Amino acid sequence: MKAAVLESLENIVVKEVPTPEVGPDEALVKVHACAVCGSDVRIYHHGNNRVIPPAILGHESSGEIIKVGAGVTSFQVGDRVALGSDVPCGECDFCKAGHGNNCVINYAMGYQFPGSFAEYVLLNRTVLNFGPVHLIPEHMSYDEGALAEPLACVLNATELAGIKLGDTVVVMGAGPIGCMIIPVALMSGAAKVIVINRSPGRLAFAKQVGADVTICSSEEDQVARVLEETGGLGADVVFTANPTPSAHADALLMAKNRGRVNLFGGLPAGSKVELETNLIHYKELIVSGAHGSVPRHHRLAIELISSGKLDIQSFISHRFSLDEVNEAFRIAESKEGLRVIVKP
Ligand SMILES: [Zn+2]
Ligand SMILES: [Zn+2]
Repeated sequence: MKAAVLESLENIVVKEVPTPEVGPDEALVKVHACAVCGSDVRIYHHGNNRVIPPAILGHESSGEIIKVGAGVTSFQVGDRVALGSDVPCGECDFCKAGHGNNCVINYAMGYQFPGSFAEYVLLNRTVLNFGPVHLIPEHMSYDEGALAEPLACVLNATELAGIKLGDTVVVMGAGPIGCMIIPVALMSGAAKVIVINRSPGRLAFAKQVGADVTICSSEEDQVARVLEETGGLGADVVFTANPTPSAHADALLMAKNRGRVNLFGGLPAGSKVELETNLIHYKELIVSGAHGSVPRHHRLAIELISSGKLDIQSFISHRFSLDEVNEAFRIAESKEGLRVIVKP
């Protein structure tokens, strides 16, 4: 089969590799769509301790099951499926408790398991038994199915932040994932969603998908503006959805007393941030993190998309063939668009 192989850092080569053999407890998917995630771009430049080249990246995908092993009963040939990223091992304390994104091994598609920037992707026994593999209905496109993965991560974060009816929600960062928080926050009951971004270009898209207020942080003082928009009290919920360390400090300043802060966007490895922790203490803030998702979030993401409650189509800006995967990575990194999809 043809696959985009990360041979070494900053070197992806599209080439012929052996098509995976399908064991009795495994299945093979013909990939129809795989989106480029910010983490794929990070791995391309800096590597990851769970990715050992030569490796096939790609963890936001969908396709059709074309082969199943004799022992597989949960899926059949012809099933249209969306595939998520984090794969619970099914055996550690965290996985058994339903927190597979905190698994001690933290298996993921496109990491330890070969990903979907390829014609075919193998669903091994662990993936089939415990992983985020879910049917998508006929009327839902494969492109939409691929974006169930990033949406699942958003659902994990919004769940942890506990948005309530009437809340004012701040999203720091208007990248595709930050912008996915907007419709979910509105659906969860937010009365006002404020989105902050350094470059003004992406704020127009934030508005398009439901932001009530946008703040361009390179032109305005973001903390002062949030306080102004909230009667001086601050926001009920603040999400950081950018890789900027100072956003974490500012999030505490923007949050209302008893507010919730979710540190959703990861920072460059080893980052240290100086925080005024007395803000957490005196304001009784609840600060949480969010990393990846578990299969139930992925299933819910598919339901929100397939029911038409959430228009994920508008988050797709570019489509490329597998041969053009390097160009797809370049566009994804350039922030010229939103989600970039590779169609093997
Ligand atoms: Zn991703
Ligand atoms: Zn586990």
